[in-house]
Amino acid sequence: MGVGAAEATLKLNYVSHCHNQYGASVCLWLSGGNNNNNNNNTTKTKISHLLYRDDFKLIAKSEEELQKQIQTTKTFSDNIHMEFGLEKCAKIAFKRGKLVHSQNLVIDINREIQQLEQGKTYKYLGIEESEGIQHQQMKKILKQECSRRLRMILKMKSELNARNIITAIGALAVPVLRYSFGIINSRTEEIKKIDMKTGKMLTMYKMHNPKADIDRLYVKREEGGRGLVQIEAAYKAEIINIAEYLNTNYKEDQFVNIVKSHESTEPNMNSIIKTAAKITKELCQQNEMSDAKQDGIQRTKARLGESLKKKWKNRVMHGQYIRNIDRQLISEEDTFFWLSKGDLKTETDSVIVAAQDQALQTKYYATKVLNTETDSKCRLCQQFDESVDHIISGCPIWQKNST
Ligand SMILES: [Zn+2]
Repeated sequence: MGVGAAEATLKLNYVSHCHNQYGASVCLWLSGGNNNNNNNNTTKTKISHLLYRDDFKLIAKSEEELQKQIQTTKTFSDNIHMEFGLEKCAKIAFKRGKLVHSQNLVIDINREIQQLEQGKTYKYLGIEESEGIQHQQMKKILKQECSRRLRMILKMKSELNARNIITAIGALAVPVLRYSFGIINSRTEEIKKIDMKTGKMLTMYKMHNPKADIDRLYVKREEGGRGLVQIEAAYKAEIINIAEYLNTNYKEDQFVNIVKSHESTEPNMNSIIKTAAKITKELCQQNEMSDAKQDGIQRTKARLGESLKKKWKNRVMHGQYIRNIDRQLISEEDTFFWLSKGDLKTETDSVIVAAQDQALQTKYYATKVLNTETDSKCRLCQQFDESVDHIISGCPIWQKNST
């Protein structure tokens, strides 16, 4: 094996933990000192490090213990010809959950790991931490990055067709936030605001007519929507996923068990399991279902999509088009082929959808939505409601004149 020839940088983060600190809030892993992992009692499990790919965190009860751990890590790294990326490493010490000043961590004569200064943070798996995760700071960073990517994609609208631009948003901008769900504490209200902001940006770039239905934006293109990922739905799906994982794996996996126990001590709004239960309950109420438990995770997620479609369909004006389609037993697949193909320009896509959502100034719209008129009958034939459908294909006078 040619491992020795390659010189890799190992990004390491060090967390030291001082004496006399059991059951620390900083790191839930440090609640005991026994290495015996054979029983189910989570307080007896000691975790000395966290490792994911090249991101490594050492956790120790004392400076001495940490020093020993770093030597073990150094020996191992030297043997496989890996090097520490010292500039990316930090050492941090806590006393009773508070960050305290400590010495740099010595690796060998020439090399030290700097201790983290007060007010500074270190990154583990892309998340800023110091005395625990820095939720507010992370939220700000993630929202900015998501907007930056969204703007970048929207600026390319002349080069991408309607479908591809929506796909790009889902594949490049949304994952920035999705990665943080369940790690960074978020409220549904905050998430809803991000969706609103995205909607406004789409309007700014003429990709969404403000009079068209907002929920239709999030319905699958195959079902008559425009296929945008709703961040609120992505958030809810992710929370339900994590809760499902914790609830099914805690018996087999002691670490999952620790996380689950820790979860139960969190306040309601920060607990994944409690939030997931709340989301499932709300979904059931919206769909007039009594029992959610038997339904399974896949169905629950599908229902997130269904409830958006239902909201669109139930709107007096916006839903008129989709309601008519259901009534006339015509092929949904063929009807929405132009949407699922998505090869129109994104502005054209938006205008057609807005017209179908009755967002034009018809008399029907003026009567039913604006309430500025009382008569909804067509100004040409005076027989039928003057809706968009009627003007396009239903008005006998209009058709006679135009053929
Ligand atoms: Zn008419």
